[in-house]
Amino acid sequence: MQIVAKGLTYTYDAKSPFAAQALRGVDLTIDEGEFFGIIGHTGSGKSTFVQHLNALIRLTGGSLQVGEFDLADKKCDLRALRRRVGMVFQYPEYQLFAETVEKDVEFGLKNFQKELSDADRASAVAEALETVGLDYESVRGQSPFELSGGQKRRVAIAGVIVTKPEVLILDEPAAGLDPLGKKELMELLHAIHGGWCKTVVVVSHDMDEIAENCTRAAVFEKGKVAMCGAPADIFRRADELAEMGLDVPVTARCARILRERGIDVDTNFTCDDFARKVIALWEKGGEGRAQ
Ligand code: ADP
Ligand code: MG
Repeated sequence: MQIVAKGLTYTYDAKSPFAAQALRGVDLTIDEGEFFGIIGHTGSGKSTFVQHLNALIRLTGGSLQVGEFDLADKKCDLRALRRRVGMVFQYPEYQLFAETVEKDVEFGLKNFQKELSDADRASAVAEALETVGLDYESVRGQSPFELSGGQKRRVAIAGVIVTKPEVLILDEPAAGLDPLGKKELMELLHAIHGGWCKTVVVVSHDMDEIAENCTRAAVFEKGKVAMCGAPADIFRRADELAEMGLDVPVTARCARILRERGIDVDTNFTCDDFARKVIALWEKGGEGRAQ
């Protein structure tokens, strides 16, 4: 499903003195098959935008098409949309509620796929838990509240992927995880992307994460898309990003320092490629350059 937003606007508490205009005309197209990143300073409208994609926030201005779903249409089948577009909120573990992990994860299934038999439901829950790296038999009967923070987040993600949405949106999924947890999370997203999950949209504060994982990204600023393109092209514009209060990935910073010294490294912004290029340069230039 392709996602096409045009002139999307949204104001919280529009009719009150506390009105806050969160989106000021977002134009953005995300193609089917992308692993798309959304970056931006706090308050730039990222969460408000992504919550429109499965109609958690109803469209009030502009147009939004998600596959065949026209979100401006009052008769749009939201249940059908939400079955195909899954949303993992920021800190999703705070929304766990059931007595057991199994009951929590199967909640979405019961909601969206009422026709499933008990056996099919159990096997879908098992598959979702295994996908997020948890052992079904050992966690199914546990209270989600007994688990570690990282495990809770996995359970919450399992509760969304259990219906196998073809578009999966995650709002800061790695926030608060340790480096290993972040790495594992990204591996998990890549593992499901390209299988039943065709499109992944991930909101992130971590520029390295965007640089290393995304096909394209959009930079939000003050409720609009300020830049959109391949990470390598976005992160070349370090000065503009700095003005928006945003950093660039470590690889881009290194490339810049090298460029300032007359060493031109073109990098596609994964650490591995970058290291390989620097090593090749060093070998070409002899040992002196390594010092
Ligand atoms: P981001 O996810 O980029 O941090 P948000 O979409 O959460 O940005 O917020 C965009 C703007 O909307 C901010 O100014 C924020 O204060 C405001 N906002 C967000 N959520 C609410 C809300 N529930 N009620 C009122 N204002 C909100
Ligand atoms: Mg947010």
